[in-house]
Amino acid sequence: MNCKQVQRQLVSYINGELEEKEEEEFVKHIRHCPECYEELEVYSTVFAGIRQLDGAEEEIDYRTLVEDYLETSEEDAKDEHFLSTYVFLLRIVVTVLLFYMIVRCFLG
Ligand SMILES: [Zn+2]
Repeated sequence: MNCKQVQRQLVSYINGELEEKEEEEFVKHIRHCPECYEELEVYSTVFAGIRQLDGAEEEIDYRTLVEDYLETSEEDAKDEHFLSTYVFLLRIVVTVLLFYMIVRCFLG
């Protein structure tokens, strides 16, 4: 993902509208690109300001705004990886179990 693509997706990211894969790449890019990081900072501040003007009760800490966003995304990504590893292991266990049952069946 390059800077242009990332900057086009800033609003979608803040609104939580990106696909998982997109979001992962988006965050990866932001982490390594000070320019886009700054851009996200501006957008997230503006959007948080709008939410507050709309009467949102939440406390917004503008200093950690971007980090909060990024950390939430990274936590989500970690959960996904954990889940897919778990599903993968479960499949192996089921396959082995099935195999075991079939073998036992044949051996009487
Ligand atoms: Zn960039």
